[in-house]
Amino acid sequence: MNPFSLEGRTALVTGANTGIGQAVALSMGRAGARVICAGRRSCADTVRQLDDGREITLDLSDPMAARDVFSGEPVDILVNNAGIIRRGDAVDFSEADWDDVIDVNQKAVFFTCQAFARAVFARGGTGGIVNIASLLSFQGGIRIASYTAAKHAVAGITRILANEWAAKGINVNAIAPGYIATSNTEALRNDPARARAILDRIPAGRWGEAGDIAEAAVFLASPAARYIHGAILNVDGGWLAR
Ligand code: NAP
Repeated sequence: MNPFSLEGRTALVTGANTGIGQAVALSMGRAGARVICAGRRSCADTVRQLDDGREITLDLSDPMAARDVFSGEPVDILVNNAGIIRRGDAVDFSEADWDDVIDVNQKAVFFTCQAFARAVFARGGTGGIVNIASLLSFQGGIRIASYTAAKHAVAGITRILANEWAAKGINVNAIAPGYIATSNTEALRNDPARARAILDRIPAGRWGEAGDIAEAAVFLASPAARYIHGAILNVDGGWLAR
C-alpha cells in the first residue's frame, strides 16, 4: 500500500470552509480520505468539491464544543486548523481580544485533541493529529499578543500530547505555516509597507498559498509519518531558516 495514501481513513478538519482548512480537506480527500468538514459556518463549498465528504457545525468559541463529536463514526485523523487573530498594541490590548483568541486557538485545540483521543482509545484504534501552529509559535510578532501566546501554546500542547500518546497509537504533530495568503493575513497584505517587508524576507520569494500547507498535512497524517511524534514542521518558504 502507498504509505502516503489516506485510503480507508476518515479525517475531521476544523475551519474547513475556507483558507488553509479548505485546502487541507481537499488534499486529504484527493489522498483517499473520507472528510468531515467542521465549521461554525457552512462548509458546503468544500463538501461539493469532495468525492466523499460531509459537514458538521462546530463553533469552537466554546472550547468544549467537540466533546461529543467523535462518539459517532470512527475518526482517524484530526486537523485542528480553526483559528482567529486580533490585532492591537499590547498596551491597549483588551481582555476580550485576549480571551476570544485563547479560547479558539489554544483551549479548543487541547480539548478537541482530548475528545478525539478518548474516542480512539475507547475503540482500541490508532490515529493522527495535525495541529496548525504558526511562525508565532517561535517568534514574537507585533500587535497580536493573544495570537502569539496561543500559538506558542499549540507547540507545547503538540509536544506534551506526543509524549503521552506516542506509545498509545496516536501521532501528534503540527505544521507552522509561514505567511499564507488567506483572510488571516488580509490586513498585512493590505498594508503595502508591511507586505513588502514580509515578502523581502521570504527566501522563496513569494507568499505561501493554502495548498502549500495542505500536502504537508496529508504527509503528517499518513502512514509515511508513523515514526514522527511531536514535530512542528515549518512550511514557510524558508522564513525561519533566515
Ligand atoms: P482563515 O481563512 O481566516 O480561516 C480560519 C478558519 O477558522 C475559518 O474556517 C474560520 O471560520 C475558522 N474559525 C474561526 N473561528 C472559529 C470558531 N469559533 N469555530 C470554528 N471555526 C472557526 O485563515 P487561515 O489562514 O486559513 O487560518 C487557518 C489556520 O492557520 C489558523 O489556525 C491560523 O492561525 C493558521 N495560520 C495561518 C497563517 C497565514 O499566514 N494565513 C499562518 C500561520 C498560521 P469562518 O470562515 O467562519 O471565520
